[in-house]
Parts: sequence; structure tokens; C-alpha cells
Amino acid sequence: QTSPAPDLLSFDKSAEAIRTNSRWMSGGVNSNFRLNISPTPLVFERGEGPYLHDIDGNRLIDYYLGMGPMILGHKPPAIVDAVKAQIDKGILFAGQTAIEAEAARLVCEMVPSAERMRFGSSGSEVDQAALRLARAATGRAKIIKFEGHYHGWFDNVLWSTAPPLDAAGPEEAPMPVAGSKGQLADTAATVVVLPWNNLELLRERLAAGDIAAVIMEAAMCNAGAVHPAPGYLEGVREACTRYGTILVFDEVITGFRLAPGGAQQKFGVTPDLSTFGKAIANGFPVAAIAGRAELMDLFSTGGVVHGGTYNAQPVAMAATAATLKSLTPALYKEIDRTGSALMNGIREIFASAGVTASVAGFPQVFHVALGLEAPAQNYRDLARMNRPAYVALATALLRRGVRVLERGAWFLSSTHDDAVIEETLAAMRGAVQELKA
Ligand code: PLP
Repeated sequence: QTSPAPDLLSFDKSAEAIRTNSRWMSGGVNSNFRLNISPTPLVFERGEGPYLHDIDGNRLIDYYLGMGPMILGHKPPAIVDAVKAQIDKGILFAGQTAIEAEAARLVCEMVPSAERMRFGSSGSEVDQAALRLARAATGRAKIIKFEGHYHGWFDNVLWSTAPPLDAAGPEEAPMPVAGSKGQLADTAATVVVLPWNNLELLRERLAAGDIAAVIMEAAMCNAGAVHPAPGYLEGVREACTRYGTILVFDEVITGFRLAPGGAQQKFGVTPDLSTFGKAIANGFPVAAIAGRAELMDLFSTGGVVHGGTYNAQPVAMAATAATLKSLTPALYKEIDRTGSALMNGIREIFASAGVTASVAGFPQVFHVALGLEAPAQNYRDLARMNRPAYVALATALLRRGVRVLERGAWFLSSTHDDAVIEETLAAMRGAVQELKA
């Protein structure tokens, strides 16, 4: 039964601060993905465990989790202690440290394909490093990427990440659609866009022998939270090997989130290179590229440049090592349990209210698509979800103290316990009732 309508939260101080701060920051924010959020982009004071506290005094259950990183929740004591201890030793040395070697060893021990690795600071840049390595190794220029997959905001990959369907061409032969004004149009010539989860089309295109890399989210978690079709990843692996193409798994979301060794471990398919970010350091700006030693060693002995002032920044490395040491198999099992309970609870609420929706993905990151009868298989399926209705649902949830991404993704942490899940489901009941009324 639904409890009486709670007092709905207001966000007036955030709205006012965004207006004021727009004098100094474009749009009052520092990422386009934080703009245009209903009822306003929020301004926060602090976070702890599953909660964020904003400047209006609201306590929000957070399913953004920094857009994925905070798998241990906000401000986990083990990370905070490690970071404080490192700050006492110094901040940046432009040299090597024991803590970066420890973090690197942990990555190589946890990730099945990681014979060697390098750190960077953002997912976007390590994806660039992976594509450069693949081009150097193959002597080819073109890459294949998939509709709806996001590999950072740079010109050569910001193609068809969220294209409007009327501009996207036929489903089996998508047009590369630019994601930004000002994007260098020439880079489209280096990108072949294909529908994901379609092995035949990929095999056909690879057979031409001119593709340096296939890059994909091994489970599509930017648009939706979509499983690879049975046998798909294995088929991709086999085709890439056959045609001399480097297989890159972009595990910036899935890495250290779906399993200690990421999607490649969960699905048992080994890429040549993979990239990581987000959950690798629970909120610190750390990313990584890892893979076969002879590819990775092109950085040290093969003339391939990879740099970055902040690569392996010691404080961030302390956070990385502490995070990786916290990511036990038991932690994933526990999120399996709580996340499944949340997914099932949402399904039940929708079913009893007669709401058509797909709640799909993984307990660690799932996706709610209003209007879809069945889980999506690719971007075109997802593009048919009822986005305005979901934004209204996300707003109704926010007013009840639950913060979810408007694109439908829900991220879980180890601090979202049974009580938090129950509170979330109560908010969902209220939100659905409001929108049905
Ligand atoms: N790759 C994937 C799959 C991502 O989800 C993201 C960010 O959301 C990126 C790459 C880019 O990472 P960053 O935002 O750290 O540059």
C-alpha cells in the first residue's frame, strides 16, 4: 500500500545558485551532461554512503553515483584514509611512486586481459590512447564503433552516440551522425558505424581488411544497460582475430562494476585492449588502458606517444589502490542481491499500475525504459522509449528524495542496503501514483 503523499522536496536554492553561477561557468555547470536537468541542475554540499545532501537541505538517495564511479558509495572511510595519508606525503612528483605500482599490479591481477597497463585521468583520453595503439599496430586508419556507444567527447569518436532516428539512416547501415557542433567532420571518414549485437554485419565489414579497431562497450551501458546477445562477443572476438583487427572493450562503465574483472570477466571474452575509468577509483579522476603486453609496450619501445601531467597522480593512485582492494567478490554478490531486489520491486510497481516498461541490465547498473515491452537489443530499440514520460518520473522521484539519471540508468553501490531499497520503492510507488493521476 502507498503511504500518504510525502511533502515534496523543493530545489529553489539550487536553481538560484545555478542562475548566479552562470556568470562564471557556462550554464552554471562544468559538463554538458549536467545541463538541462529537471527541475534544475543541483548544487551539493556533501555526500555519504548512498546519500547526497544539497544546498536546499534535501537528503537524496543517489543513483547517479557520480555517473557510475561510486561503487563503494560516497566518502568510503577506507578511501578517505588512504587519500589523507598520501596527501601528507606530497601531491605530484612527475616521477614514479610505489603506490602507482601497487595500483597497476592490482589492475593486472583483476582484469583478465591486462598483461600490462597505463594510467590516465579520463575515460575519453584512454579511449584515444587505445585507438592510437590499434592504428600503430595495424597500420590501418579506420575504426568500427556502434550506434549508441559512447567513447568520450573527442571529435573522432563522438559519432552516433545518441542520434535522432530520422537522421540516422537505415538500421543495418547507419549514417555517422555528429554529436556536436564544431566537431571535425573529416573524422567521419575514419569511423564506420554499425548496429550493435549484429554479428553478420560486423563480419562482412571486417572482411574488407581495412579496420584497425573495433571498439565497443561489451555491455551497452550508456544508452540502456543491454546484454550482449548469446555468442555475440565470442563471434566478435573470433572475427577480429581472423581479420587482424584489434578488439577494444571500453569498460569505463562496466570495469570494476559488473565484476572485479569487468565485462570481460563476466562474459569470458578477452579483448586485445580495454579501457577503464569511473569505478576504478571510486570518484577520483583516474582511468586506465590495459591489454596485451606487445601492444602496450608500443608506448615504451614502439614510438607511440602517451602522456599526461596527471597520469598516476599519487593521491588518485592511493584512492585507486584502496578502491581495488575493497572490491571483493562478496561485494558484487551483495549488490547482486540488493540490485535485483530493486529491479524486481520496480517491475512489480509498474505491473500493478499497468505501466509498460522494461527494467533491464545488471544489478550493478540497470536501465528503466518506459514504453518498451521487452529489453532492448540495441540503440534503435532504446530510442523508442518514452523519454518525456521518464523525465517526468525522474522528476517525481527527485521530489521524493531519490535522484536518478534522466536517461534511465540506475547505478548501485555497496551502501544501498535493504532499508535504502525499501525507501526507494516507496518513493517509486508515490511517483507512479502521481503520474497516473
Ligand atoms: N566510455 C564510456 C563507456 C563512458 O561511459 C564514458 C563516460 O561516461 C567515457 C568513455 C568517457 O569517460 P570520461 O567521462 O571519464 O572522459
